[in-house]
Amino acid sequence: MTDPLFAPVELTPPDIAPYRRGNTGIDHVTSLSAAEPGPHVVLNALVHGNELCGAIALDALLRMGLRPTRGRLTFVFANTAAYATFDRQNPYASRYLDEDFNRLWSPEHLDGRRDSIELRRARALRPVYESADLLLDLHSMTADTAPLTLCGRTTRGRDLALGLGYPAWVVADGGHAGGKRLIDYGNFARPEGSHTAILVECGQHWRTETATVALESCLRLLLGLEMVDQPANGPRMRPRTDPQRVVEVTEAITAASERFRFTAPFVGMEVIGRAGTVIGWDDARAIQTPYNDCVLIMPARRVKSGQTAVRLGRIVG
Ligand SMILES: [Zn+2]
Repeated sequence: MTDPLFAPVELTPPDIAPYRRGNTGIDHVTSLSAAEPGPHVVLNALVHGNELCGAIALDALLRMGLRPTRGRLTFVFANTAAYATFDRQNPYASRYLDEDFNRLWSPEHLDGRRDSIELRRARALRPVYESADLLLDLHSMTADTAPLTLCGRTTRGRDLALGLGYPAWVVADGGHAGGKRLIDYGNFARPEGSHTAILVECGQHWRTETATVALESCLRLLLGLEMVDQPANGPRMRPRTDPQRVVEVTEAITAASERFRFTAPFVGMEVIGRAGTVIGWDDARAIQTPYNDCVLIMPARRVKSGQTAVRLGRIVG
């Protein structure tokens, strides 16, 4: 297996300077409204500054001249300060500058007195996200894992992920102990209501295919909502025949030692048939799967004590 640390960077970061001014008064936010009423959809890229796929997809849509035929469509390049430091010789370094933009989405951080580059940007973008009926947050992964959608815990998030028809894996989870993600923010995560957010992990950070998945996810969402016409100059959508599978995350395995190791080079979305299979060792403690057909979700590349090593999920549909 290729160590993802040494995976070639196939993608080229697009120049987003033309979108800096935007048209909303907020840097790198462009919002287009149709005369016909309809939902406000936000396509969100660069929550992590080194995840190029979303920026490539939004740049492609904007250059295509895509416009909504109803409702409002907003393009957001989120952590542009981190993205500006992207260096293909050291591509992991630009994930964020001060702190993870995707752990700040609670009043405690947003309304608090603390300051950071990411907090400033989150506070500036907050009204955009709060006005979204639907948010599609585009990410990528370190490991060479099959694309997947994180739909949170709401039924409407799950329905939206299944409505897209792709990616095949839909993971229902509650986020991270280390801080709330954008898709778990405010109205998006309320059990009742209509505001809906999903996050698509489009594939490995640097692969060409990952940007294709990001672009296709955007178009599938907008075409499904009948908010755009199929762009004549857009990509041809590939038929997707893999049935979608929903996985509910049941628990997170947190490493208690600095000597956590997996028994195999898992990349994520492996389905471990038999309950009781040892998947790792935390010092001398065996980590076993608790039930049959247990799905390993995004195992960490390097596991440190106190951090999540892997999350486990059960296939529910
Ligand atoms: Zn990410």
